[in-house]
Amino acid sequence: VGELASLMNVSPTEVISACFSLGVMVTMNQRLEADTLLLVADEFGYKIEFSDADLEESAVEEDVDKEEDLLPRAPIVTVMGHVDHGKTSLLDYIRKTNVIAGESGGITQHVGAYNVKLENGQRITFLDTPGHEAFTAMRARGAQITDIAIIVIAADDDVMPQTKEAISHAQAAGVPMIIALNKVDKPNSNPDNIRQQLSAMNILVEEWGGNVQSQEVSAKFGNNMDALLEKVLLQAEMLELKANPNKNAQGVVIEASLDKGRGYISTILVQSGTLKVGDYILAGKNHGKVKAMLDERGKPMESAGPSIPVTILGLDGAPTAGDKFRVFADEREAKTIATKREQLQREQSIRTKKHLTLDELGRRIALGDFKELNIILKGDVDGSVEALSDQLQRLSTEEISINIIHKGVGQITESDVLLAAASDAIMIGFNVRAGANAKDLADKEEIEIRTYSVIYKAIDEVKEAMEGMLSPEI
Ligand code: GDP
Repeated sequence: VGELASLMNVSPTEVISACFSLGVMVTMNQRLEADTLLLVADEFGYKIEFSDADLEESAVEEDVDKEEDLLPRAPIVTVMGHVDHGKTSLLDYIRKTNVIAGESGGITQHVGAYNVKLENGQRITFLDTPGHEAFTAMRARGAQITDIAIIVIAADDDVMPQTKEAISHAQAAGVPMIIALNKVDKPNSNPDNIRQQLSAMNILVEEWGGNVQSQEVSAKFGNNMDALLEKVLLQAEMLELKANPNKNAQGVVIEASLDKGRGYISTILVQSGTLKVGDYILAGKNHGKVKAMLDERGKPMESAGPSIPVTILGLDGAPTAGDKFRVFADEREAKTIATKREQLQREQSIRTKKHLTLDELGRRIALGDFKELNIILKGDVDGSVEALSDQLQRLSTEEISINIIHKGVGQITESDVLLAAASDAIMIGFNVRAGANAKDLADKEEIEIRTYSVIYKAIDEVKEAMEGMLSPEI
């Protein structure tokens, strides 16, 4: 409904009332039947043509696996944390050492993602680009691939701004965390200090009676790294991760580049099904036959099942990280869809408003399908951030709960904007502005940033917006 309205440049309410007059009761985010689409568009003087691509895509979306076809799959893990707290060291240690049973030598190259086999035969897949920016950029593109987040915190330091960000990003995505208390080899390390600071943020680690797993490690010397990985497996077991390996593969692009000798190479992660050499795939706007597949050590592979990352050769270009891919039985069909996608994307990026704005909030609430308002809050001093956050949360009603998904002191950053895009959140700045890069990204992602210098003004505007009374900003 919302999409159709924006394509026709009318308000969703008009589309909804057009549906009502046809006897169809709908809400903003509802999908319309083909017949209804035709009739409603006609009311507004538009004619709809269905492309084979639309029909094919909707047919595929409905492909739901049967319970008996699902088999366990390895967890997919992202490492996040403050700069210099040891993310890279942790990933490097796991990549280079033999936590991997029966394999000689480590993985020498960064390829975007790698899969390790532990002594007990179980496997874990690591996304090899540390940081919450990469994690949330993927999510903003609709690809949530991480099952578990390892939050690295240096025990000789404090819980830092980016630690808080990483935690907010994991929580906003609903991804369980494991805390790695790093650098415990250092004489001045004080893990209890970190546990204390975490508990002040309502994150209680297991040793302190909470339910968040944590492990003291030294990424530099490898101390307790196996214990950390055990905890990842334990968490994975609780998540009961499963996928159907016996069908055509689908998954997500991790990274892609142009290699001088080999053409376009893409590292992709299979999420379900099994990818084979010779398969014809469509990845974002690119397509091609898989000419060769390599594992993280550069060794050729014939097939790759769920949770397995592979580097593939054969695409006609470099898709974007976060693009979804899937295998097509018919090459011609894949090509047609690739072309149509490109057209559609070009047209839609001009027309559709992607994200929530405060002006639109009242309308969405009035439509009744809006339950949660996500807010990201940045301010100049801790006191005002806390005060504003408290008062905003108190605006929650029975119908709409207000979630402050991230708050912090400092400028509005690109990472804040990405989180807003991924969580459809409103950005509020109190006595702070967005940096130049963040501003550009916000324009591109169509994220609205509201800045205030008086607390009650911010509260009033959010309140008015919730009541649908905000006059649009000019
Ligand atoms: P990142 O910015 O989070 O990726 O952090 P790095 O992995 O680059 O680590 C930052 C610095 O901390 C480097 O100089 C590492 O050698 C050092 N470091 C990382 N882990 C440990 C550790 O467990 N013990 C000690 N002593 N130093 C570490």
